[in-house]
Amino acid sequence: MDILSATFDELSSVFKENSIQGFRASQVYEWLHKHQVLNYDEMTNLPKALREELKEKLPIVCCSPAGKQTASDGTVKMLYSLHDGDYIECVIMKYKYGNTICVSSQVGCKMGCAFCASTLGGFKRCLSAGEMLSQIYLAQKETGERISHVVLMGMGEPLDNFDNVMRFIELLTDEKGQNLSMRNISLSTCGIVPGIEKLLGKRLQLTLSVSLHAPNDEIRSGIMPVNNRYHIGELLDMCRKYTKITSRRISFEYAMLSGVNDSDECADELARRLKGMLCHVNLIPVNKVEESPFTPSSPERVKKFAAILEKSGITVTVRRKLGSDIDASCGQLRRKKNAERGTA
Ligand code: SAH
Repeated sequence: MDILSATFDELSSVFKENSIQGFRASQVYEWLHKHQVLNYDEMTNLPKALREELKEKLPIVCCSPAGKQTASDGTVKMLYSLHDGDYIECVIMKYKYGNTICVSSQVGCKMGCAFCASTLGGFKRCLSAGEMLSQIYLAQKETGERISHVVLMGMGEPLDNFDNVMRFIELLTDEKGQNLSMRNISLSTCGIVPGIEKLLGKRLQLTLSVSLHAPNDEIRSGIMPVNNRYHIGELLDMCRKYTKITSRRISFEYAMLSGVNDSDECADELARRLKGMLCHVNLIPVNKVEESPFTPSSPERVKKFAAILEKSGITVTVRRKLGSDIDASCGQLRRKKNAERGTA
């Protein structure tokens, strides 16, 4: 039993099976998810004998802080170690509307996007709901500030870890715990079409982000292997269906790679394909990853690209670069840590 990943009902029934009084289940659940206490010894209203029993029977599986970097703009990157020795990371960004945390959903990633550092060390495993929650709980403790927005845009592909990610979202929005608003959660996918359909079935009010990064199959398959499996046409059809049924706007991520996907023709083609869809395009000058050949488009190119989309009535934002002095892009810090250990 992984107690930190358990819903309140699951936790209650385990306590019952172990003949622990019912009100103790409420206390422990609150310590974990409301007060973010990930250590039985700090649960001071539990008798010592019970704490010892719980430690033995229901150990709390979570990540532990293993490093922290703060950028000049206030962005904080946390490095965490896992019980089986690997590392993950998350980033806390300060925006006017509140603090946003970028959470990892897997150790490494299978998706193989050519510009992304998460994929370089290979895929290790999926994270549990508790391991995802503890990234947030520990970050709030570490920074002393409330996190109001959560984006699943760290390492890993959330729709490749569907059940744990759904459980994570359920626990995060539970009113007995953090009670985070579903509308303040974003889930980003590289475009796993059956996963989007499954998510649609859940009718959640979260924001779906889709990493598009190209206007056609030729360019997209060249940088994102997932496109060989689910072509862009199929992906955009599913996105259209998603917005129609949920009435939620999709956010398309578009990393601007100089000379690869940033021409006027690309902008025109993208505008044609997205026309009439309830969506928004987020242009991101690509973050340089050491091993990758891609360089960011110039600010002038980004501006022109954005102008073409806007002329077609598509709303566009250009992502502000945060944390560029601390290797804040997905997978970069873990990659450095592994390189130090010689396991990269
Ligand atoms: N697997 C999911 C979520 C993790 S990546 C997905 O693909 O959406 C979060 C976002 O960062 C994605 O849009 C991804 O394509 C983008 N990204 C990855 N590496 C990047 C880089 N070097 N520069 C800019 N964006 C990058």
